Amino acid sequence: MTNAPLRPGTSKDTERDEPLLVVEDLTVRFPTQDGEVAAVQNLSYSVELGKTLGIVGESGSGKSVSSMAVLGLHDERSAKISGSIRIRGREVVGLPEKDMRKLRGSEVAMIFQDALAALHPFFKVGDQLAEAYQVHHSSASDRDARRKSIEMLDRVGIPQPDQRINDFPHQFSGGMRQRAMIAMGLINDPSLLIADEPTTALDVTVQAQILDLLQELQREFNSAVIIITHDLGVIAEMADDVLVMYAGRCVEYGTAKEILTHPEMPYTWGLLSSVPDVTASTDARLIPIPGTPPSLLNPPTGCAFHPRCTHRDKVAGDLCFTEMPELSEAKGNPAHVKRCHLPDPDAIYQTDVLPEIAPDLVKDNR
Ligand code: SF4
Repeated sequence: MTNAPLRPGTSKDTERDEPLLVVEDLTVRFPTQDGEVAAVQNLSYSVELGKTLGIVGESGSGKSVSSMAVLGLHDERSAKISGSIRIRGREVVGLPEKDMRKLRGSEVAMIFQDALAALHPFFKVGDQLAEAYQVHHSSASDRDARRKSIEMLDRVGIPQPDQRINDFPHQFSGGMRQRAMIAMGLINDPSLLIADEPTTALDVTVQAQILDLLQELQREFNSAVIIITHDLGVIAEMADDVLVMYAGRCVEYGTAKEILTHPEMPYTWGLLSSVPDVTASTDARLIPIPGTPPSLLNPPTGCAFHPRCTHRDKVAGDLCFTEMPELSEAKGNPAHVKRCHLPDPDAIYQTDVLPEIAPDLVKDNR
C-alpha cells in the first residue's frame, strides 16, 4: 500500500462513514532561494472522534508543518499544498480564508508549545478568551463571553477564575498559561484539538497534570486529539494510534500498542532506544540514533534514513541507497504499516534489545 488514507486496518464499513479528519496524500512545499523544500510528502492518516493520534519524530520531520496545514495556517503565497484534508467530509485544502477562519476554533483548534508567546502580552487572559468565544458567537454579549471565560478557566483548574480572569499572561505560571491555552482551544467546543508539544516547556509534575487534564477534557468533550511530540512517554500515555515521521514522510503508522511494542522500522526503534528506562540498572546506557536528520533541500537518495541506519547492510544490494521504500503492511498485521526494505523485521530483534516504554501505560485499542 503506497498511502493509507484511513488508519491501517480500518474496515470497509468504517470507510463509508468517514472519520472526523482524513488527510490524504498531503504534500507541503516551500519555495526558497536555494530551491524547493518538500517539508511534507504524500502523508495520509485519519483520526476519529474520541481518539488520539500521536505524531512523533525529530525536529524538521514535518510534524508541525502537516498539522498547520490542517488548520489552514500556511500562507498560500509561500507554501504549495496538494492532496486532500477533509474535516467532517469537507475539503479544506484550497478553502477561502474567510471560510477557514470559521472552521478554526469552532471545528478545529490548536494548543501551541509556548503559551507565553501564543497569548498576547498586552491583553488580559480573560479578554483573550472572551474574544475567542465571540469570534464564533457573534450574538454573545460581553457579559456572556466573560461568564463563559470564567467557566472555562474553572474547568481547566485555574483557582479563583473570577479574579484571575483579570490577570495578564505574565502573571500566570507556565502551567497556568498552558491551562489557559487549553481553555481557549476548547471554548468553542471544537471536534478536533491539535496539541503541538503541549508540555515541552513545563516541568515534569506540571506536564503530568496537563496530560491528565487533556485526557479528561477529551472524554468530556468527545473530541479527537492530535498530539505532536518527540516524547514517546507522552505518546505511550495519550495516544490510541501513532504515526512516526521522518524527513517529511510517514515511516510507520498503527496502533500505539503495535508501534511501541513491535516496531518494524529502524528509525522508530532508534526513537524507542533513546528514551530513558527508569526500570533499567543505573549503568544502562541510552542508545542514540547516530547522525542528524537530513536536509530537506538535498534529501538522501533511496531511504531517507539510510545514512543513519545500522540495519541497511541486512538489505540485499543497494536498495536502501537507491529506492525509497513504499509503505507496506507489517508482518501479519494489517493495522500497522512501515516504510522499510528489510525483508525480515525480526532481523532487528536478533541484534538489538527493544526497551520497554512503561508497558502498563501503553494504550491497547486493537
Ligand atoms: Fe534502514 Fe534500509 Fe529500512 Fe531504510 S530501508 S530503514 S536504510 S533497512
